[in-house]
Amino acid sequence: MESKVFFMSKLHQNALDTIKRSSEIAVLNTNFLESFLNPDHSHLVSLPVKMDDGSVKTFEGFRVQHNNLAGPYKGGIRYHQDSDLNEVSALATWMTIKCAVMDLPLGGGKGSVKVDTKTLSSCELERVTRAYVNKLKHNIGPHKDIPAPDMYTNPRIMAWATDEYLKITNTSNKGVFTGKPICFGGSEGREEATSAGGMYGFVAYLESQGLNPQGMKVVIQGAGNVGSYAASIAEEMGMKVIGISDSKGGVYDQNGLNVSEVLKCKKERGSVVKYQEHVDTHKIEGRIELKVISNEEILEKECDVLFLSALEDQVRSDNAERISAKLIVELANGPITPEADEILEKKGIDVLPDVLMNAGGVTVSYLEWVQNQNEDYLSKSEVLKSLDKRMTKAYKDILCIKAKYNCSFRIASYIKALKRLQSIWEVRGN
Ligand code: NAD
Repeated sequence: MESKVFFMSKLHQNALDTIKRSSEIAVLNTNFLESFLNPDHSHLVSLPVKMDDGSVKTFEGFRVQHNNLAGPYKGGIRYHQDSDLNEVSALATWMTIKCAVMDLPLGGGKGSVKVDTKTLSSCELERVTRAYVNKLKHNIGPHKDIPAPDMYTNPRIMAWATDEYLKITNTSNKGVFTGKPICFGGSEGREEATSAGGMYGFVAYLESQGLNPQGMKVVIQGAGNVGSYAASIAEEMGMKVIGISDSKGGVYDQNGLNVSEVLKCKKERGSVVKYQEHVDTHKIEGRIELKVISNEEILEKECDVLFLSALEDQVRSDNAERISAKLIVELANGPITPEADEILEKKGIDVLPDVLMNAGGVTVSYLEWVQNQNEDYLSKSEVLKSLDKRMTKAYKDILCIKAKYNCSFRIASYIKALKRLQSIWEVRGN
């Protein structure tokens, strides 16, 4: 079947190709597929914002609402200088799949502002955020489209966004955004939810394979919200984190890094690559054989598990052959291209896919939204228990589908999601 989306990026094409392949394997209804592939709505907004020096600068903003068969559109807002409508369309499509993988009553959407947040003051960032919400006020809402944080956005930004929406619509339902600070309707456990969810999924995988995490060597790409919590939880689980990277490069020690010190270094000095200076200044003891390595090299290091928690398109046909991890966990969205997927499969490397492994974020966002509806809040342990239960169930469902169709974890996850969505499409009438 030909898609009718023009000027489609490779990333978006990848998302659609995986949907089409999964539909063929599970023999889904072609009319359902035809109605499902393209986003329902794509909004492009222009955001003129007054800068601190009095000048006005215009930023581009996007919101793609992919599909709301299962419930209101749901998905993060990313602030990134390279973001565009194509990237957001791919991410919105993945959100629809992800919510369905987790059996959530939510659809898929995604937004972005084309901006490098490092070049803005806090006041400018607030004005950009308020301008974005103002332009999209008729398109979002607690029962329409519920954004959340993503790359380079955070609870502070969600608080400004929620405040702006409530003021301009003269309403009070804080469930219009999720990922808010706890004092303003946020959920306990939301900050670490994506990584914690990934780890619950990973533990379910280990149990199904009869493996134990103790002493496993781990490399983590990305030291932001997702990567830093993943590193801390991996260490708590008794794994040895031997490498961590950020946009400036990676730090590697085959004896295992002291995760909390590496993260402290990142906070104080701006990057993990300054870890040697940090070790010297703070006289950190232990068997330390540090190496600063490039972003390419860290991906190729021998390890038991490689957690990808930075950006899309990190493992491609040009470097997949050199990956020496035994297992890859995708915590970022779309970090492995379909071509690389095939190479990894031939090499016998299991890949636990993004649409399952990073679904902890949207799952706790859903719990936050539910809590906002009646202003009754759960404790952190209640939130994490519910997340664990949901991730473990989703993994087990996918494992059964994988066995039935003899396919990869990725295809099995898509089949689970698409079958659920097709059932909703059928009963809603079409
Ligand atoms: P973040 O902005 O907090 O962190 C991104 C990190 O990636 C930073 O440490 C940055 O330095 C690093 N990075 C950028 N380029 C890199 C490179 N080439 N090599 C190594 N590191 C690099 O973002 P985040 O919230 O942690 O999101 C990371 C990924 O997880 C994204 O793909 C995002 O879409 C996905 N995700 C996030 C959530 C969430 O709840 N935050 C939920 C689902 C999926």
